[in-house]
Amino acid sequence: MNDTAWQTCIHCGRSEAEIPLTSWRLAGEFFWICPDCLPFLIHRRNEVMPGWHLAGRRVLQKKGEENAEG
Ligand SMILES: [Zn+2]
Repeated sequence: MNDTAWQTCIHCGRSEAEIPLTSWRLAGEFFWICPDCLPFLIHRRNEVMPGWHLAGRRVLQKKGEENAEG
């Protein structure tokens, strides 16, 4: 574990050493995002958020969409 690791943008992976990051939280989990990627969160949230693998993704998916048994 590295306590001093810089946070990185959840979308593009750049660190706070390269670009300003803001923290957000979802379902008790923090994530960080840079200004360049913030528009994705605002305008294309339903497209990009599943790829971020946040705990809260379950909340964002409509019930039944991933319930494809068989
Ligand atoms: Zn970014």
